[in-house]
Formats: sequence, C-alpha cells, structure tokens
Amino acid sequence: MAQNKAQLLEDLRNNTIGNCTRCKLHATRSTIVFGEGNPEASVMFIGEGPGKDEDAQGRPFVGKAGQLLTAVIEKGMKLKRSDVYIANVVKCRPTVNLELKRDRPPDDEEVAACGPFLKKQIEIINPRVIVTLGNPSTKFLVNPKEGITKVHGVWHLYNNIPVMPTFHPSYILRNGGDTSPLKRLMWEDIKKVIAYLHGEITFEAIFGKSGVTLDISINVAGAEKRDDEVQGSLF
Ligand code: SF4
Repeated sequence: MAQNKAQLLEDLRNNTIGNCTRCKLHATRSTIVFGEGNPEASVMFIGEGPGKDEDAQGRPFVGKAGQLLTAVIEKGMKLKRSDVYIANVVKCRPTVNLELKRDRPPDDEEVAACGPFLKKQIEIINPRVIVTLGNPSTKFLVNPKEGITKVHGVWHLYNNIPVMPTFHPSYILRNGGDTSPLKRLMWEDIKKVIAYLHGEITFEAIFGKSGVTLDISINVAGAEKRDDEVQGSLF
C-alpha cells in the first residue's frame, strides 16, 4: 500500500535525516528542527534556519519571529498554524563561528548539504503555494537576480508551484518591529497569497499558462473586507 504524506515525512525525518552529520552545524545543535504542520497543507512557509528558541524546542518559528509569523497566519490569513506547514532550508542552527552567540544565515555548503531534505519535504507535501521568508530560502528555491527588497511580492515558480517571496519576520523585528513599514509590505504580499488560495486570481493569470485547475470565482466582498478584518489585530 502506498505510504501517505505523514508516513513519508516521518520516514524522511527518521530514516533519511536520522542523526545527521552531513554538515558542520551538527556539532553545535541541540535538536534537528525538521519542520511541522499539516502534511496535506495548501501553504508552506519556508525560512532559513532555526534560531536559539527553535534549537532548544525542536520546532520552527517559536521565538519572537515565530509569534509574528503565527499572527500573520492566524489573524491575517484566518488559518490555524496547524493548517499550514513550516520548515527551513537548514535543519540545524547556524551561528557565527559556531559559537552559539549570534545567528547567521546558512552558508553555501550547509545549504547544499541540507537543502535536498527541504526539496523532499516540498515534493511530499506538494502545496498549492509556497511563501519564502527572506533571502536564503528565496534564493534556494527560485534564485532571483535581485534581493528580497526587490522581489518580495513578485510571484515566482518552483517545480510548477507558485512561490511568493516576502520578508523574514526576524528582519521585520530588527527593522522597526511592530511599527515597521515592512510589516505592511509583508501583509500586501500575503494578501496575494490569500487571493490565490481563494481562487480570486488564477495560476494562468499569474504565469500566463494553464497548469492547475482553480475555482476562479471572484469574492470581491471578501477581498474588500480583508484589510478591515485585520486592522487592530495584526497591525
Ligand atoms: S543542517 Fe542539515 S545537513 Fe547539516 S547537520 Fe543539520 S540536518 Fe544535517
């Protein structure tokens, strides 16, 4: 009998990744942060790597940045965090000089070693849309010519799956936090994802070719209400 998605993910975690030592990050990690969420998710969020809180708890996006991402999912998108799937490009915490003091983005070697696990997760889950958070995950999946400040909000494709790059919540917190204009920009990007998920914009309209079947009924009232609904909760 064919394995279901949950079983395939479990097999990837336990039997393929196992107690992985494929890159130097294994030496300083507390736990491998595989990713979590609904194996049948329509939406995947992908960051760059675990931070201190994630390393300690073994779960992705559980620190302050995670709280912001959860607010975007729950207050903005009106989904439960458990409805989506959240993962990172690398599964162990990258820090400067491996001293566990300052976090850093994963380097090329680490991405090359760990990235295939993320690609396998995407293949298994096969979401309708992927949201990349920040430069490393965006570069890894769609390799745009420009950085996140230019390509956020612009649809890309990875293996025929629409990809929406947006800012990493940590970057928003470091650049103004709750009052950062980047938060508003992120929300504009996320609204495009919501519109796609609701069938208000089609794959064909975005990419100019037919690839998926979508309900293309336009929920104009819903679209207009979207901003009002999050006022005072997300912002
Ligand atoms: S970051 Fe990925 S490749 Fe490197 S040790 Fe951890 S699980 Fe293995």
